[in-house]
Amino acid sequence: MIHEAYLSLGTNMGNREDQLKEAVRQLEEQKSLRLLAVSSIYETDPVGFTDQPSFFNIVVKLKTSMTPDELLAACQEIENKLGRERIVRWGPRTIDLDILLYNHDNIKSDSLIIPHPRMTERAFVLIPLAEIDTAITLPGTSLPLEQYVKNVQGKEGVKLWKTADAFYRL
Ligand code: ATP
Ligand code: CA
Ligand code: CA
Repeated sequence: MIHEAYLSLGTNMGNREDQLKEAVRQLEEQKSLRLLAVSSIYETDPVGFTDQPSFFNIVVKLKTSMTPDELLAACQEIENKLGRERIVRWGPRTIDLDILLYNHDNIKSDSLIIPHPRMTERAFVLIPLAEIDTAITLPGTSLPLEQYVKNVQGKEGVKLWKTADAFYRL
């Protein structure tokens, strides 16, 4: 079975563009995964724990034969390879990969909640996601993504930094 998923990637340590590129490259290297789209890079003000450098955020769309748990494991392996250490919750990180959506599924286990539970409150997720796909709806809702983008707070803290074309070619 082939599944469609969206990931959110973020970084605010070291060379942020290189780290995003490297994470995307490592996703591309996975045998059972194919990237369909990569958003522009957005420079974003930190949210939650605000006393830290600004982030670079992107969203990618992919298709994969991996189960959600396998996809999470692949994401965590990439985080580990890029030297992620968890020190402060929502704190500085070399790279963070979150699964936003997996098909139209609702998933709740100890290690995984999909759709990502905080995605609709996060302008740094919704704006790059809408750039890739304005037409998607979230499972269990009929609101189009555009409506979430319209309603979300903090859009002024999300600035286009580099267009998708200039950032990464699939
Ligand atoms: P946030 O989840 O608010 O963005 P975070 O990304 O900083 O915070 P992490 O420390 O990276 O949080 O992740 C904590 C745990 O969240 C992971 O170990 C993972 O098991 C769990 N998790 C639950 N749902 C998801 C999801 N959709 N994508 C990625 N991780 C998830
Ligand atoms: Ca996250
Ligand atoms: Ca995470």
